[in-house]
Amino acid sequence: MHIPTADQLLGLDDAHVSILDPAASLGEVSLHPGAAEAFLELRQQAWQAGLDLRVVSGFRSFERQLWIWNAKARGERVLLDDDERELDALSLSPESLMLAILRWSALPGASRHHWGSDFDIVDAAALGPGDRPSLCVAEYVEGGVFAALGRWLDERVDADPGSCFFRPYDGTGSGVAHEPWHLSYAPLSVLCQARMDAGGLRSVLAASGLELWNTVDAELEHLLQRFAVTDARRYPPPWRHLVNGSRLG
Ligand SMILES: [Zn+2]
Repeated sequence: MHIPTADQLLGLDDAHVSILDPAASLGEVSLHPGAAEAFLELRQQAWQAGLDLRVVSGFRSFERQLWIWNAKARGERVLLDDDERELDALSLSPESLMLAILRWSALPGASRHHWGSDFDIVDAAALGPGDRPSLCVAEYVEGGVFAALGRWLDERVDADPGSCFFRPYDGTGSGVAHEPWHLSYAPLSVLCQARMDAGGLRSVLAASGLELWNTVDAELEHLLQRFAVTDARRYPPPWRHLVNGSRLG
């Protein structure tokens, strides 16, 4: 399996990903071929349970993540609090604004979506014509449009210690909000996480035009530990021992 290069891990180069079969996505999505192959198998299993798993967001570039970050920092894109209520970006201190963005959006260069191993899924079988998923927690719990998908993932992914997929964001143990739609292909993502490099990220961000850069720069290593590093215990057992050695200062 090709392990992404330093630039690929930062989202600066996309040669490690390719376009996913359109039948398995909603809109054009790219994934690392190793993750794509495993996802198509998972999709087959889900199909037998009456679910039509589709990836709605896979690889995301540094540029795209930077655009999202800056739009939120400038109050040009909706910013939500922990309870998915709208915040007024312009009324927050730089520190509070940065932390509010990080709750739902990764720092550019530090997103698991750069790796090609991580992606967001929905169940197209539950969507009516013209319905657009909004990716909020309420959709994935009892009574939500994707409740059946949420239950299936609880049973077939979370409860299976041999699963090669896991969900890194359960709302505990890191600063990132609960994202029941976000799946990670452990055999690849564990290697990507171990190669995260705070020094390389700092140089790229310093020259990127990132809003709130001074605030981010002052505590970059701490922010990475809190928001970008997934605890080894969240990975399925076969991959846990590989979560180490990252150069995060
Ligand atoms: Zn995601």
